[in-house]
Amino acid sequence: MKVLVINAGSSSIKYQLFDMIHESVLASGRVERIGMDSSIVTHEPADKEEVVEVKEILDHVAGVKRVIEMLTHEEYGVVKSMSEIDAVGHRIVHGGETFKNSVIVTDEVKSEIKRLFELAPLHNPAHMMGILAVEANLPNVPQAVVFDTAFHQTMPKSSYLYAIPKTLYKKHKVRRYGFHGTSHAYVSDVAAKTLGKDLAALKMITCHIGNGGSLTAILNGESFDTSMGMTPLEGLMMGTRSGDLDPAIVPFVMNKEELTLNEVNSMLNKHSGLLAVSGLSSDMREITDAMADNEDAKLAFDMYVYRVKKYIGSYAAAMNGLDVVVFTAGVGENSVVLRQSVCEGLTFLGIEIDEELNKIRSKEPRVISSANSKVTVMVVPTNEELLIARDTYNLVK
Ligand code: ADP
Repeated sequence: MKVLVINAGSSSIKYQLFDMIHESVLASGRVERIGMDSSIVTHEPADKEEVVEVKEILDHVAGVKRVIEMLTHEEYGVVKSMSEIDAVGHRIVHGGETFKNSVIVTDEVKSEIKRLFELAPLHNPAHMMGILAVEANLPNVPQAVVFDTAFHQTMPKSSYLYAIPKTLYKKHKVRRYGFHGTSHAYVSDVAAKTLGKDLAALKMITCHIGNGGSLTAILNGESFDTSMGMTPLEGLMMGTRSGDLDPAIVPFVMNKEELTLNEVNSMLNKHSGLLAVSGLSSDMREITDAMADNEDAKLAFDMYVYRVKKYIGSYAAAMNGLDVVVFTAGVGENSVVLRQSVCEGLTFLGIEIDEELNKIRSKEPRVISSANSKVTVMVVPTNEELLIARDTYNLVK
């Protein structure tokens, strides 16, 4: 069975076609700048040269049409016809409290995703355009939806409720949802399997640290707490997001700087974090390259590391113990110095990193703690698309 995984954004469509027999990627690619003057299509077949074309793509329906044309193209296609695409799986950011698992797309599911637009106004409407565009191009192919929030639906009330008037939860569903759930679920499963242990018997903290970042405490194999909240702004310091801050800063700054709600929202999401503190970049590579002789870059790095350490410490306390820490995503998988700096300050928990193992670069899941370490520290490359493909396959087959 072949499964097409789609991640639709407001002006982009990312795709991967999986052959589920070997869980191999036949092709991947992206359509960017949809609806703008010149759209860019990048198609990467597994065993052939990458193709890049600049073309007019007016909307998502035309975008998905082009994706199918690429996948079935005589020269750089990877399947003979679109009838070989057996199912499509979509990444959906917000599933609210409704979706605790991945589901097949039906009219009710579509209505519910629409109802959730207000919780993820930047993401869910774009995902819906993706679903409708697939429906228009592949009307008889079953579609499934996989939610970033679903894995965190196991959190207890004490983790997901905020200490604010109850009516806000009852009326507007104001609560912690958490994000990156597909990644936290995937890497925790791979980590336990790599160690040959039962996930349900491990107290684990998964650190998904990329442009955005979140930590999850996994207890009894389930998400017990996670650092992102009602929106992805809460928790860690990120590339351009502030993460945790005193909520009273918001009205104070709005008043002093005469900012609107949109402006303050944009400041906290797009102009804060590493970018604001370093005054240099939101990209961790540029920060670590510069920090030897740039004080602000060093401060940004130190603040970032400090926040990760605080969350690991608090989640170890929340679970009354810790067996495994997993690093994943762009920064977590690649930054030797970030992992080293986080772990160095956590020896009281029994964390002891092996400097040589930490330096090894590999795409395989691996242990980077020493044999004496009481807590196993691992690097596990994430693969959200594969989990979406697996869920879709399991629902459709
Ligand atoms: P996204 O949240 O957009 O999916 P990724 O998980 O791809 O992000 O992570 C992107 C981040 O990974 C970039 O900000 C980059 O700084 C960081 N990154 C990638 N490679 C390295 C590296 N070798 N060292 C440090 N950071 C890295």
